[in-house]
Amino acid sequence: MKGTLTIALIAHDGKKEALVEFVAANKSWFERFNLVATGTTGGRIAALGVEVERLASGPLGGDAQIAARITEGEVHAVIFFRDPMGKHPHEPDINMLLRQCDVHNIPLATNGATARLLIGSHGFGG
Ligand code: PGA
Repeated sequence: MKGTLTIALIAHDGKKEALVEFVAANKSWFERFNLVATGTTGGRIAALGVEVERLASGPLGGDAQIAARITEGEVHAVIFFRDPMGKHPHEPDINMLLRQCDVHNIPLATNGATARLLIGSHGFGG
């Protein structure tokens, strides 16, 4: 049964495959939480048979939507596989999302190594 904690999932195009593989490999852990994702990322995760709420695609405001949910206390951890090599038209929205994580002390994993720590036995959600 799902608890009340919500995790946001986002991946830039160059990192979508890595995030999908990460969620697939840890499916039962993720299924303990409510999941929300930006549009395209969410579609890829839903294709795994994992229940996820899909917001707008990142460039159309999905990151901004997740930032607002953090502000409202509705997102409790973020896994955001960023592509450090890419340029993104929605960079201001991305920065807003990262800043809201820091403002509200929300765990934020931006790569696989940190995401593994987050989902570990002493990580998020116990
Ligand atoms: P997407 O958005 O999941 O809709 O591709 C992610 C992003 O580019 O921020």
